Amino acid sequence: MVLPKLRSDVNLPSGYHSPQLDVAVRLNTNESPWAPPEGFLERLPDALTKIEWNRYPDRAASVLRSRIATGYGLGHDQVFAANGSNEVLQTLLLAYGGPRRKALVFTPTYALHTHISQTVGTQLVSIARDGNFEIDVDVACRAVDDEQPDIIFVCSPNNPTGTVADGALLSALLERADHAGTLVIVDEAYGQFAETSAVDLIRDDRPLVVSRTFSKTWSMAGLRLGYLLAPAGIVEDLERVVLPYHLDSFTQAAGTLALDFRDEMAERIALLVSERERVIAELDTLGFETWESGANFFLFRSPAMSGDDLWQRLVDESILVRNCSSWDALQNCLRMTVGTPAENDRFIKALAAIVNGLG
Ligand SMILES: *Cc1c(COP(=O)(O)O)cnc(C)c1O
Repeated sequence: MVLPKLRSDVNLPSGYHSPQLDVAVRLNTNESPWAPPEGFLERLPDALTKIEWNRYPDRAASVLRSRIATGYGLGHDQVFAANGSNEVLQTLLLAYGGPRRKALVFTPTYALHTHISQTVGTQLVSIARDGNFEIDVDVACRAVDDEQPDIIFVCSPNNPTGTVADGALLSALLERADHAGTLVIVDEAYGQFAETSAVDLIRDDRPLVVSRTFSKTWSMAGLRLGYLLAPAGIVEDLERVVLPYHLDSFTQAAGTLALDFRDEMAERIALLVSERERVIAELDTLGFETWESGANFFLFRSPAMSGDDLWQRLVDESILVRNCSSWDALQNCLRMTVGTPAENDRFIKALAAIVNGLG
């Protein structure tokens, strides 16, 4: 018997998956360090009793989409929801990518943009960010003019560097996209941790979409719920390609209930942002190289030790961060997800001990 061979163009780049080690402090996958608010957990069972389990879910997810839309002052027809923002991105690529279509990414960035593009056969063009991980406006515009992509990915804040795309870049890209019918996808999985967002730029006559998720800000990586804010015409296209009833009743109910807890979520975001700034300042003092971040994580590097060694020393202290050392342009860099204040203290203390041991 001969088993079928996986298409050679759909393999994830090596080094993408994060090792799942059994440690005390897990700061490696950008999740929230807290469970969802208690009130949400208390009310969830009641919300579930209202589900008609023998029936298919509401195919349009109307209640959930309306509630999300209201939060942004948009119409429910400008929201598309799916099983995590990864499925949102996949649906976009099914609709607008594929053979004879081209996508542009600015690297280093979130590996799934490349992976999802390739799984549907989209040609990929990678443009390098500058030494500070910013996207140079002139370089980006030249790439768009030369390559004429169908899709442009901008991850902001960018995973894994934390870099926030500035307004000038987005305007320049949108101006070009407008003329060519190019789709600009801004991945804001960490958008709520940043001061600026592309959400306000959304208009029904502009080829711009912004994806967001319940996984990070909303403490619900286990739920699998993400969404897209987009022109209504694009949402219609996505509904044409996505599988019917893809978003189950449970997810719709839990997501809708979660939106009753915006204040609690805003408080958590504020605390994580202030912790991020505190931890970065401590690492600067200890002599590490750090990069400004608009997310719930940041990138850092030791000038005195390889990234692999530093990563292992932290694991020895039962602290797990993401080792990005082997990524192009991220030599010796590690990425730390901001945790609870106690976890962050433990992380800082471990690094201080490592630095002192070097002296
Ligand atoms: C985590 C992440 C996502 C995916 O999140 P889902 O859990 O699928 O919603 C999307 N984009 C970026 C940049 C991420 O880091």
